[in-house]
Amino acid sequence: MAMVDPRTLTPKLPPLQLFIDGKFVGPVEGGSLPVVNPATGEKICDAPAAGPSDVDAAVQAAKKAFDKGPWPKLNPTARGRTLRKLADLVWQRREELALLESMNNGKTFKDALRADVGPASATLAYYSEWANKILGEVLPVGGPFHTYVVREPIGVVGAIVPWNFPLSLTAWKLGPALVAGCTVVLKPSELTPLTALKLAELAREAGLPEGVLNVVPGYGAPAGEALARHPDVAKISFTGSTRTARRLVHASADTNLKKLTLELGGKSPQIVFADADLDAAVEACFWGIFGNKGEVCNAGSRVLVHEKAYDEFVGRLVARAKAMVVGDPLDPKTEMGSQVSLAQMNTVLGYVASGREQGAKLLAGGERDAEGAKAKGAFVRPTVFAEVKPSMKIAQEEIFGPVLACLRFSSDAEALSIANGTPYGLAASLWTRDTAKAHALARKVKSGVVWINCFNQFDDAAPFGGFKESGWGRDLSHHALDGFLETKTIWTKLPAEE
Ligand code: NAD
Repeated sequence: MAMVDPRTLTPKLPPLQLFIDGKFVGPVEGGSLPVVNPATGEKICDAPAAGPSDVDAAVQAAKKAFDKGPWPKLNPTARGRTLRKLADLVWQRREELALLESMNNGKTFKDALRADVGPASATLAYYSEWANKILGEVLPVGGPFHTYVVREPIGVVGAIVPWNFPLSLTAWKLGPALVAGCTVVLKPSELTPLTALKLAELAREAGLPEGVLNVVPGYGAPAGEALARHPDVAKISFTGSTRTARRLVHASADTNLKKLTLELGGKSPQIVFADADLDAAVEACFWGIFGNKGEVCNAGSRVLVHEKAYDEFVGRLVARAKAMVVGDPLDPKTEMGSQVSLAQMNTVLGYVASGREQGAKLLAGGERDAEGAKAKGAFVRPTVFAEVKPSMKIAQEEIFGPVLACLRFSSDAEALSIANGTPYGLAASLWTRDTAKAHALARKVKSGVVWINCFNQFDDAAPFGGFKESGWGRDLSHHALDGFLETKTIWTKLPAEE
């Protein structure tokens, strides 16, 4: 389908209020937060910022909807139908949503449409189909008992999401939570609150009962913190940094031991063996780090190349990076937009400085791109470092920007040791024509996803999440549903046989 030229569209802002109990209302205690277009540095609007009392009001609305409202008890097929309607509305309004996200986040309109808004609609549609397929079990226990298991919605869910894929990551939480019969308080990132408020409007249009979805934009502290510490929240489904996740674990431990699903950072290796299809691998490694300007949890931020192919492979990546079109996110020709904020740009440039100081060889980029109309934006040139050592900071820490670290290896064992040698374990890829070897190595890579001869493949049917410090639990697929369901075992003594 041909893509509309986004420069011909007029942005339509959502109501700039909190969404609590089915109504748009002003914050009673919070204030406002500036929503900025990072590509131009201009303020788009002021959005509301929830304070603890606002979060409490949202949780009370969600609790009332869970305890007394129709949602958890609704005919599951009808619940699925409502969710499907929401999915369809997101799809119908995809250009409007993608335009807002592109302006708010700095990602290209293309990426917003194809990698964020479109997938959000698909994820909601996928989960709508699960409504009448959440099954119990009858158990083969010893003795005269009829014993069975039922799955029940866990209760009020706090969904806390980051700014890099605001809408699709929201759908990863809302889809399974709502179809399971939970009610939700959603806290979008303070940097990207607009599409979440738009989604609230669409949820109302789809017929979601009052209080089932509440949206409270606000800062991590106090709004996120208030949600994480609330005694009436049964579960937090979180996507964000490992640093914030540690705070959530403390908040849960200090309060009601609410359950946590944590989708966190990564330092994903792409391992390229000498026999790989180099054309395919170059393209995948290029987009694996520079897609969505490197602000991707599973970004292939480390490329490990066998010494026999290293020079050629890195040379080709560098040529591709130097030719990349960086600029106006709304221009259809642009390949990479702006980082989400000047602060994020400075973090990225700080890592570039560290790479240089620690002796890595800078072959492309490494600087802010402030040419012409980009002068006030947060643009960074696509950056490639070679001769990176596994212990360097740029090979260990998540940069969350367009910075690629290229490392050299000489044996399978060395590649595996480098790949597994960070605290993260989100995703990895293996590039070789020897698929038997790839399968054997895939079992030894410590990460939640391994792609063989491909990268960045997602499907709603495929679970996503991390080993080690990349997280707890899984999003997507039927596995994610488990996180929003309690398991109850019911025993009935049968009458004695005559
Ligand atoms: P972040 O942890 O700073 O913020 C994420 C969310 O948590 C935001 O809504 C923020 O307001 C909120 N928050 C911050 N402090 C909080 C607190 N004390 N209590 C409760 N909530 C709080 O992360 P970010 O910078 O917005 O996002 C980037 C991170 O997200 C990266 O580390 C990236 O890898 C990760 N991420 C992971 C996945 C995944 O699926 N594994 C996907 C996308 C992004």
